[in-house]
Amino acid sequence: MLEYNAYTYLNLNRCFFTPVQASASNFGTPGFIEQMKQPDLKQPEIGLMDAPALECVGLAKQFGGVPAVAGLDLTVPRGQVLALLGPSGCGKTTALRLISGFESPDEGVINIGGRTVSGPGENTPPERRRVGMVFQEGALFPHLTVEQNIAYGLPKGPGRDERVTEVLELIGLQPQRRRMPHEMSGGQQQRVALGRALAPQPEVLLLDEPFSNLDPKLREQVRRDVIGILKASQTTAIFVTHDQEEALFVGDVVAVMNDGRVEQTGSPEEIFHHPVTKFVAQFIGMVDFLPANHDSGRLNTEVGSIEWPGEWPELQAEALAGVNSDGNSPLEVMVRPDCLDCRPAADGTGVVIDREFRGAFYLYRVQLPSGAMVRCLLSHTAEFELGASVSVSLREGHHLRPFMGDRLVAVSHDTTEVGNVHRH
Ligand code: ATP
Repeated sequence: MLEYNAYTYLNLNRCFFTPVQASASNFGTPGFIEQMKQPDLKQPEIGLMDAPALECVGLAKQFGGVPAVAGLDLTVPRGQVLALLGPSGCGKTTALRLISGFESPDEGVINIGGRTVSGPGENTPPERRRVGMVFQEGALFPHLTVEQNIAYGLPKGPGRDERVTEVLELIGLQPQRRRMPHEMSGGQQQRVALGRALAPQPEVLLLDEPFSNLDPKLREQVRRDVIGILKASQTTAIFVTHDQEEALFVGDVVAVMNDGRVEQTGSPEEIFHHPVTKFVAQFIGMVDFLPANHDSGRLNTEVGSIEWPGEWPELQAEALAGVNSDGNSPLEVMVRPDCLDCRPAADGTGVVIDREFRGAFYLYRVQLPSGAMVRCLLSHTAEFELGASVSVSLREGHHLRPFMGDRLVAVSHDTTEVGNVHRH
């Protein structure tokens, strides 16, 4: 439920933020609001143009002794969209509130456009940080037209009307400029909310799960529109979501958060194909881990083997021996369901345990002789009965990623494979 009050309006007027849900609108103390000035619309100085739009170094914030953000490092180059992904409670919103200035970090430094806005002896107020925000609800002012909503955060003076028109063109709503919010669709309203946040030309735009209240079909369309608008305006943005598919779609770069810190940052492809920890692998899509053994220069599993390049310094004697102190092999390979083929075979070693119909695909759960389970994503034409005997193999062009304990072995951020895979 949205609630508006003078306090919220004042904040909105003074900062270039869209209206927000009451739960997210704890913008500061009344004394703090008194100090607020009009937003700073200055462009970065020439000498600072090369600096990243945003840099967070070692940010930490506790509430009542419990860490919400614990050593967060984040860099967003100019013009890029960083998708910040993580489970509920991992500290995403707190990170945004620290960047925007509505919380003060216990430790760490925040640089925006090459200037330190938060750090030892420095705490720039929110309205001077050049940060814009869009929250879950577009939450337009219901009594103002589209153009008035967009103009709301802009200082009065020359150029204001031109800027409103420019933004209306950017968001594709010029013809609807005099409509009231209730005369607009949900997707159009979100575009207006975005336009309002972009109007003062923020250095960084923060979007906190902006589509979570839209139904899935509309959500897909609106996120395509929003990304198009961010790219057209070359806006630097952090886009918070806990939807991994959305993160892979919207992010030039994806950062996966866990327990208050970033566990991995990389391109969507790097994060998906080269997750550096099991947490990232499991958070970013369906994945299974299979036990692996080292033998005669190869790492063998029940679905394929990887050539042993002999230069994995991380691998220790106990890994090579095949067991750790718990008696389990510390070596495993990561495999995603789309990497595996599964065919009926009288002499197959796998047994179909479960089948989920997903429209275009079936997701099969197959038990291997060791007892390990893998999932296989197959076309809807591949219909197998439960209990069927099948053989499972690695598809051409797909890879097995070796893990030791919780971590990827031979961490590589390029797409080079660590070894050749022999397919069964
Ligand atoms: P979600 O995806 O559910 O929104 P999140 O990743 O955004 O979660 P945060 O809202 O940043 O997570 O919360 C991180 C942790 O800090 C949580 O344990 C939360 O309960 C706690 N927390 C956040 N704000 C406060 C506050 N003002 N006072 C006390 N604890 C807080």
